[in-house]
Amino acid sequence: MKITKTYADSFNKIIILVDKTFEFRSYKLNIKNGTEKMFIISLSIVENAITLKLNRDINIKYYCFMEYENIPYKVEYYSLYSTEEFNKRFFHNTTLGAIYTKERTTFKLWSPPASCVKLILYKKNSPDNFSIDRRIDMNEHNGLWYISIVGDLQQTYYNYQITLYDDSNVVVDPYATGVCVNGLIGVVLDFKRTSPPMWHQDRRIFIEKYTDAIIYETSIRDLSSHESSGVLNKKKFLSLTEKNTKSPQGLSTCLDHILELGVTHIQLMPIFDFSYESIDERYSDKNYNWGYDPQNYNVPEGSYATDPYSPLCRIIELKKMIQCLHENNIGITMDVVYNHVYHGWIRNFQNIFPEYYFRLSKKDTLCNGSGCGNDIASENLMVRKFIIDSVIFWAREYHIDGFRFDLMGLIDIDTMKSIENELHKIDKSIMIYGEGWDLNTALPKYNKSISTNSKVLNNIAFFNDKIRDCLKGSVFDLKEKGFIMGNIHKYEPLKECLTSKYISPEQSINYDSCHDNHTLWDKINLSCNSESMEEKEKMVKLCSTIILTCAGIPFIYSGEEFCRSKQGECNSYNSPDYINSIDWNKKAEFIDIFNHYKKLISIRKCHDLFKIRSSKILLDNLIFINHIPKDILAFIIKDSTGEDPWKMCLIILNIGKKDMHINIPNTKWKLALDSNNVDLSYTLSENRFMIKALSSYILYKGED
Ligand code: CA
Repeated sequence: MKITKTYADSFNKIIILVDKTFEFRSYKLNIKNGTEKMFIISLSIVENAITLKLNRDINIKYYCFMEYENIPYKVEYYSLYSTEEFNKRFFHNTTLGAIYTKERTTFKLWSPPASCVKLILYKKNSPDNFSIDRRIDMNEHNGLWYISIVGDLQQTYYNYQITLYDDSNVVVDPYATGVCVNGLIGVVLDFKRTSPPMWHQDRRIFIEKYTDAIIYETSIRDLSSHESSGVLNKKKFLSLTEKNTKSPQGLSTCLDHILELGVTHIQLMPIFDFSYESIDERYSDKNYNWGYDPQNYNVPEGSYATDPYSPLCRIIELKKMIQCLHENNIGITMDVVYNHVYHGWIRNFQNIFPEYYFRLSKKDTLCNGSGCGNDIASENLMVRKFIIDSVIFWAREYHIDGFRFDLMGLIDIDTMKSIENELHKIDKSIMIYGEGWDLNTALPKYNKSISTNSKVLNNIAFFNDKIRDCLKGSVFDLKEKGFIMGNIHKYEPLKECLTSKYISPEQSINYDSCHDNHTLWDKINLSCNSESMEEKEKMVKLCSTIILTCAGIPFIYSGEEFCRSKQGECNSYNSPDYINSIDWNKKAEFIDIFNHYKKLISIRKCHDLFKIRSSKILLDNLIFINHIPKDILAFIIKDSTGEDPWKMCLIILNIGKKDMHINIPNTKWKLALDSNNVDLSYTLSENRFMIKALSSYILYKGED
């Protein structure tokens, strides 16, 4: 008989999976939990599973071994941790971390399997040298370890020493809100003392609905790292507080550029503390990494601060940046990566509670839907609580306006629903959206936060890869052309996207490019060999016309508005600055395209008819013009609000290389946008309209 698996799914039950149950003999069994022998009070066999009921509960502070014919098998506890029985005993809905007051600080850590936890307080000898000052035993109540230390512990460095299963390790508090340089020691902070002047007046920006937003994705580093940015605090949070920065050609850059463009939200690639091995905060110029390597979830990244050694500096500078953006009516969306941790950081969580934080596959290996080696077990209640506490912390303490969940499809539905519920209790304007891809992880499909489950995830939006691939071609097939490159096979699928066949407008993040894969400009250049530069530029304009007029939430990857290139690199997560940085010289070179984006954004912001929320209203108010050549896409959007000065508008695109005449319904349309920048001050008197090659138009009826 071969034993394939032995596990507990209740405190007093062990299940043994075997190949031949008829060979099983219970007298050959011997079970020990630590040094205590356990007895079987009943036994049942169903198919290949033998279930043993024990005379008492397993104590998870000790390993449990089942011996069969004198061979020991470790009893896995993983299945037990997701049971109601486990949660009744060990779930704690309490504040965790270092809870500061001037008189005392209370430390709380959750670790049911630990047999001993000590609080370690450190002395700081130099900016990056610490020695142990005190080790203090903590008390336990049902897995919650706690101790109060009298005195003002502001800026005291601390870690925990955890003993479990005879192994002793030092860990960083996962709830730490401040850390030393490179993040390997936590620090107690009075958060009231981390605020810049007038922070109490800082407010999130207001949006009534998600479709009011226009999101601009960028990275703190890339936005200003190029010499041409004209910024003083290059690659730092403070870069986004600098006004009047200019490119060598005298055009606005960074913050001023974003304001000039007119977007409502900036989505920042990771700004939480990411691994010191990805970026050594002491010499941050020497490495490049986007930072999808989470280390301390509730601390800002040190390499973006002017002084990474000061735990306060990174917090204050990030808050200054947020304050400045809010003063300019720009919201900040944080890219949050709760689906996995930096692989070296697994140990920190495993040393607190092995097998609890990560999702295991049937083979008892870590699930790897993320491709980063460890999917977080968001369905385990204290992991869910950790994620919810973290987003609430960022929303409350940093006034974050939105959260973009990296690989949201790896997070279970209940966790995302709770996040939505909690964040919208704080502020209805907070945006929640993410990547709803269906990846291979040990969660049933109905329980994944994927776009096909959007109907049960109200108020959460999803990146719409269908519209992306319709517009510019598959991200996996370099040569495939999208609709804007003249591929008419994408015509019907694109129309399905425009009618929101797959997802409602307020849940659809419409984009053509983001930090992943090729930039729009690179993809156009890679898939179009025979087209001229001028034609390729026109394709960018076609693409942006669709993204910024169709129903949904428009999303722009920084620099695409002036043909940003990463020199053909499709995955630049650790490519040097010269690949990733935004070259502001390009703005002058492609100013015509920038102006096209700017114009589209200003039109969209002024007109509610573009901001339809539901699929039903969209279908009632969207009319495609039929019986026209296949390389012309034309559709009318009627105003459903009664509030828009425009009664309706007509969007026309010609993806072909020939000028065309088409008949448009009725006359007296006024022209709001012509991608060729002709004089707009005329009204069409005929219903025959000339559509130039590779051009787009927005016409309207109603008041200006
Ligand atoms: Ca870091």
